[in-house]
Amino acid sequence: MKEQPKIIQLEEKDIPEAWYNVLPDLPKPLEPPLHPATREPIKPDDLAPIFPMGLIEQEVSQERYIDIPGEVLDIYRIWRPTPFIRATRLEQYLQTPARIYYKNEGVSPAGSHKPNTAVAQAYYNKKEGVRKLTTETGAGQWGSALAMACNFFGLELQVFMVRSSFHQKPYRRVLMETWGAKVQPSPSEMTEAGRKVLEKDPDTPGSLGIAISEAIELAVQGDDVKYSLGSVLNHVLLHQTVIGLEAKKAFELVGDFPDMVIGCVGGGSNFGGTALPFVVDRLQGKDIRLIAVEPTSCPTLTGGRFEYDFGDTAEMTPLLLMYTLGHEFVPPPSHAGGLRYHGDAPIISLLVKEGVMEARAYHQVEVFEAAVTFSRTEGIIPAPETSHAIKAVIDEAVKCRESGESKCIFFNFSGHGLLDLAAYDEYLSGRLSDV
Ligand SMILES: *Cc1c(COP(=O)(O)O)cnc(C)c1O
Repeated sequence: MKEQPKIIQLEEKDIPEAWYNVLPDLPKPLEPPLHPATREPIKPDDLAPIFPMGLIEQEVSQERYIDIPGEVLDIYRIWRPTPFIRATRLEQYLQTPARIYYKNEGVSPAGSHKPNTAVAQAYYNKKEGVRKLTTETGAGQWGSALAMACNFFGLELQVFMVRSSFHQKPYRRVLMETWGAKVQPSPSEMTEAGRKVLEKDPDTPGSLGIAISEAIELAVQGDDVKYSLGSVLNHVLLHQTVIGLEAKKAFELVGDFPDMVIGCVGGGSNFGGTALPFVVDRLQGKDIRLIAVEPTSCPTLTGGRFEYDFGDTAEMTPLLLMYTLGHEFVPPPSHAGGLRYHGDAPIISLLVKEGVMEARAYHQVEVFEAAVTFSRTEGIIPAPETSHAIKAVIDEAVKCRESGESKCIFFNFSGHGLLDLAAYDEYLSGRLSDV
């Protein structure tokens, strides 16, 4: 292979003009979501109080490509295409014959991949006359991404932020408020769902499941108020496919192709967005492994059951067929706040169940060790969530060193860790333990 540049920087014209929808290419159709009261398959109208029609249509669309609206592309241009980087210094440090590439989604203004869907969701809501959105956020990445997007489209935003993260990560709240959003620690006294949890357990660290209940409760109370979800649903994974589509273009430019695609999984959106465009290659017989990485403290894919479950704690959302730890599961506080969700995207769950994707889990301390190795070789400081993917990449690269095989490993760098330095401080001073 000829000498490669360190960064393959695509041009603005290389930003995809359509998202890739995996639904028509799945090995089996997805089972429909069920209505929380009747347990019958839900109809699009059932979702209308919480989502705009534009997104509901995408949720069930069988079109393989869906055009990205010009207004959304205009905002994508602020940070897309994202850099596609060869991790040469990490390769040298590990003395591995493996070729390691990553897509840096940490260059978005909010610091993660999440604006890819936040901007699209704000657009469709605005187009249908919505005035205000509500949402939940874990570590604050989703809340800040949506705050930025709502700001661009002139929408109000109320964020319920999981309490443990609200206190651990005050700067993300400031980020959200700078972009004009209102932020409330969850569980809160603002909603029935929040008050119920606080009554039972006043010291609860909170969870995404509880925060979702609060956000939905508020959204259904107003006609021009809707709810926005940052992961899990089909339309969210759809919007994130700009990551994998740009990566495929970059791989073409360098004349390489991945043997492995790796990503961390909270609800499955960044991994989905990265790996779904490669599913067809695998289904057509290419030898390519798609590896989802999660924390052992919230082992949805590796330790959960594949069954219908609610998306939230108060049982207000439709039931989704997915891997789940149970909707009442409250994961222990960890620094990978974005990976603390009891369920997983139905698309990712199905593909793992069918053996198209595989999953593994790592402990917190080994993940931070990988994060520091990456920071000291490639220079960029990863988010704790992202570091789960990096741990898997390092393990696979070390296997290549031992076997002498030169595999091509591609992973998604889902976000930077510059607002997670308290976690690094704990690790570096030896105070961090496995949860
Ligand atoms: C939110 C987040 C995740 C996890 O969410 P997914 O929907 O699984 O992608 C991973 N990495 C970062 C940096 C995040 O902000």
